[in-house]
Amino acid sequence: MSKFWSPIVSRLTPYTPGEQPKIANLVKLNTNESPYGPSPRALEAIAREVGDSLRLYPNPDAEPLKLAIAARHAADGITAREVFVGNGSDEVLAHAFHALLQHGKPILFPDITYSFYPTYSGLYQVEYRAVPLAADFTIRADDYLGHGEAIGGIIFPNPNAPTGCLMGLAEIERILQGNPERVVVVDEAYIDFGGETAIPLVQRYPNLLVVQTFSKSRALAGMRVGFAIGHADLIAALERVKNSFNSYPLDRPAIAGATAAIEDEEYFRKTCGMVVASREKLVASLTQLGFEVLPSAANFVFARHAQHDAAKLAASLRGDGIIVRHFTSARINQFLRITIGTDEACGTLVESLKKHLA
Ligand SMILES: *Cc1c(COP(=O)(O)O)cnc(C)c1O
Repeated sequence: MSKFWSPIVSRLTPYTPGEQPKIANLVKLNTNESPYGPSPRALEAIAREVGDSLRLYPNPDAEPLKLAIAARHAADGITAREVFVGNGSDEVLAHAFHALLQHGKPILFPDITYSFYPTYSGLYQVEYRAVPLAADFTIRADDYLGHGEAIGGIIFPNPNAPTGCLMGLAEIERILQGNPERVVVVDEAYIDFGGETAIPLVQRYPNLLVVQTFSKSRALAGMRVGFAIGHADLIAALERVKNSFNSYPLDRPAIAGATAAIEDEEYFRKTCGMVVASREKLVASLTQLGFEVLPSAANFVFARHAQHDAAKLAASLRGDGIIVRHFTSARINQFLRITIGTDEACGTLVESLKKHLA
């Protein structure tokens, strides 16, 4: 604390990201990064942008990237006017809080969810109500209905984080229909690992904003690119906030790299398929070791063992050079969140767990 701080600063609760330790040969299964590199075409495009052109500002609207994202979703009627891009989807989400969820009324999100939502609520002074997940850790659509104009909006990830549980499109549609006067933000950071995107609903629901990221399924976490798709009026609000904050959130290499990445559908499908196959194998192995594993549609699993304390297991794994994520909040403090690595990395994890469970 310092007398120089603006008053709000001391009241903030900043987000705590998973650690990025600088230890060699670590099996790093704690922050849901891709175990595979970005598309080779993305790497070439990035390399081409690293040169003299860096003295010039990038395209402020990241137009080539918006066009590429729109082209991929053209069948759902998406044009560049329905696309917003930002410096990681975290930034896109922040602008959504600022531009679309700040109405002086509490917003709703699950009690167990992405911990950036309470952080942004604090930053933008948006009140919120944390809606408890069902006993099986799924989000119940009914809990988000019948609030009328008493709420300021709704946000949740699908699949949810850190549970990995997926909500079907029919349920999402019920939430949209039940809240026609409020924006519903669906954070699809993990949708490419087995879920069905809500993007096809954008044409019919002007209150839907779908947010996605290049960090997970396109292996570009280090580049910081995220995007939102929604009705042009919602996108216009995000643009107004963005252009009041930072006109150039995406640098030249990021625009080029992300554009090439989204155009490389084949590499994307192949690597997502590999992650899903490894996930199914890991779920089988963990189940065999006595873990309860929540059904995951993400690139991680959320698992607990009835006889073994999660914090102790995480510490034991760490001793073997394997890091996973452990959360300390009450309902989930017996779970480990394990990112899907290569089959080799998952195998190392399973062998270490076998040793510590014995
Ligand atoms: C990883 C993640 C994001 C943010 O990703 P960026 O790297 O900022 O694009 C957003 N939402 C959820 C639920 C995530 O897990």
